[in-house]
Amino acid sequence: MILNALHETLSRDELEKIQFIRLKTNLEIISQHSPFYSKTFKQAGFNPDSFKSLDDLERLPLISKEDILDYLPLGLGAYGVENISCFQASSGTSGKMSVVGYTPSDLELWNFLVARSLNAAGVGPGDVVNVAFNYGLMTGGLGFHHGAQLLGAAVLPSSTGFSHRQVRLMRDLKVAALCCTPSFALYLGEIAKEQGFDFREKDEFPLRVGILGAEVWSESLRVRIENSLGIVALNVYGLSEVLGPGVSMECLEGRHGLHIFEDHFIPEIINPESGRPLSLGQEGELVITTLTKEAVPLIRYRTGDITSLFDQPCPCGRTYRRMTRVMGRADDLIMVRGLKIFPSQIEEQVLSTFGLSPYYHILVDRRECLDTLEIQIEALDDLPFPIADQLSNEVQDKIKNYLGLMVKVVLVPPKTLPRAKDKNQKVFDRRQGKI
Ligand SMILES: [Zn+2]
Repeated sequence: MILNALHETLSRDELEKIQFIRLKTNLEIISQHSPFYSKTFKQAGFNPDSFKSLDDLERLPLISKEDILDYLPLGLGAYGVENISCFQASSGTSGKMSVVGYTPSDLELWNFLVARSLNAAGVGPGDVVNVAFNYGLMTGGLGFHHGAQLLGAAVLPSSTGFSHRQVRLMRDLKVAALCCTPSFALYLGEIAKEQGFDFREKDEFPLRVGILGAEVWSESLRVRIENSLGIVALNVYGLSEVLGPGVSMECLEGRHGLHIFEDHFIPEIINPESGRPLSLGQEGELVITTLTKEAVPLIRYRTGDITSLFDQPCPCGRTYRRMTRVMGRADDLIMVRGLKIFPSQIEEQVLSTFGLSPYYHILVDRRECLDTLEIQIEALDDLPFPIADQLSNEVQDKIKNYLGLMVKVVLVPPKTLPRAKDKNQKVFDRRQGKI
């Protein structure tokens, strides 16, 4: 059953009417009361009175994280600190934290959209939801915590410490849904095995769904996680500047692409280099406009995430457009010998090879003016040497055929690569100027 069926199944016409009214109202408020937007719109020569249809959105300037950093947390909206209920933050790539505020209405919206996301994953009242994202400044922990409670589920707020204890609690409390990073889901499977447990024993572990995000991951990793934990693994997307988790979510029925909650966000895809809008189906950078957020409204905000949009009907009945799995962030691209490669493209090839563990490192270096790329992958236990050799060659060939790049593949002994409880660092670029 769809939680908010009235809004989640709107026709495109009905939806666009709502989007237009919400956006127009938003633009009128922020053009007058937001220090950032009153300046930005003035510079762009934009007056909200001239905003006559959603097509006019393209006339507005694109904004990026760098543009807004100095205005966060309160310089984008029309609200002072007396209207703020809470702050969250994310670490920026430049090292500067981006701090965002939430008004009471923002918090209500956030909880509601996370509840919607969990509902799309088949979670409902009576289910026990284990939130294993970090609690605190990052949005994952508290976002899922309050969303699950709003839905009527019971929360197990384990965060990411004490994994051994967490596995036992998951068994004892009959946890049905797990919210965490894909890396941590994998890690939990390993920890359970070490303790002599098996998540696939459903009498003992009725866990049925993983709601995984905050990390770029591949379809092959999804298969690994589903097999290891005996669950359906679904992709959730969000970013703290926009709200946190709850911007888009894969549904249980479709399991392909994430429905963007378009009654609150307008997604666009642009060419990351030229900034020009791209059509449905074309891959580029995701740009988001928020329609109802108060403290940090965002108009044509460049997320840096590479994806595409499609609007084929979904078996779940939701009519919102879907975005494909994020392939990477524009700044995650590795340039090797003139080729642009996303780490997720390599992961897809590595993890679809039988006999290898899901743990790998990508090492980029430069020798004699030539970029080199080495992939270290953990073998599974007791892999005989001739087979290890064969597997290295198999991965090497796959990457060569898929990416057109010669790489060196080295198999390392089981359990020698570090396990992170949050996100595994997978790329190590040792070329000049980089670590
Ligand atoms: Zn769907």
